[in-house]
Amino acid sequence: KLGIPVIIADGLAGRDGQNISIRGDHFENVKIARGICESDGVIFLSHVTGHMQAGFAGTLKNIGMGCASRQGKLLQHSGTLPEITVEKCIGCGACMIVCPANAIGIKKKKAMLVKERCIGCGECTVACRTGAIEIKYDENVVKFQEKMVEYALGVKKALNSKAVYLNFLEHVTKNCDCMSKSETPIAPDIGIICGTDPVAVDKASMDLIGIDKFKEMFPEIDPLAQIRHAEKIKLGASQYELAEI
Ligand code: SF4
Ligand code: SF4
Repeated sequence: KLGIPVIIADGLAGRDGQNISIRGDHFENVKIARGICESDGVIFLSHVTGHMQAGFAGTLKNIGMGCASRQGKLLQHSGTLPEITVEKCIGCGACMIVCPANAIGIKKKKAMLVKERCIGCGECTVACRTGAIEIKYDENVVKFQEKMVEYALGVKKALNSKAVYLNFLEHVTKNCDCMSKSETPIAPDIGIICGTDPVAVDKASMDLIGIDKFKEMFPEIDPLAQIRHAEKIKLGASQYELAEI
């Protein structure tokens, strides 16, 4: 027990965001949770995992998505909604049960997606055992990664760089911690990476676990697209030097 209070940084209804101006390819301003913007500084703790849309989830994913207001999360996910192949659907309802946005219904024993409600989280694609509901991995995935990284830039700017980033390379699983089921680790526990550059912290984590592991799990996704875009928009640098403590 750490005795630390839980604060919902964008308010109980997720509406309390602040516009932060950035120079990105996708956004000129991003909507960051006000509780983050008003913090004196933040120590970010991120559990590293694979991710069905980002390929790799570490600091950039955690702060870019995690510190966005609800509207900011939706803006990042727009463009990566799942599609249903009706012929493969057996109407089991597993996707509907796990959907956090009540965006799936079953009609005449087939799943139906309400696109306006979908937040693009991808939970349904993991729950479906027949491959009937999938996110199409095309250029939209790179766009998603880039949008997420631009939000991470907004977070860094909102905090005036007063942040430390810790990646936990322990119990690294294929999918992120949003998933309702526990998964078998894909790599041995390595330890904790700490630094003041979120890009270097993520790149070091990818290298230590092995970038090929993430590419094997999600062949359609290049996790390094996050790093390339982060460097392009000057969020940080991928070069690092490891000092073991
Ligand atoms: S992507 Fe998420 S919100 Fe959208 S239908 Fe699937 S589970 Fe629901
Ligand atoms: S989980 Fe798959 S098979 Fe079952 S209802 Fe949903 S889309 Fe259809």
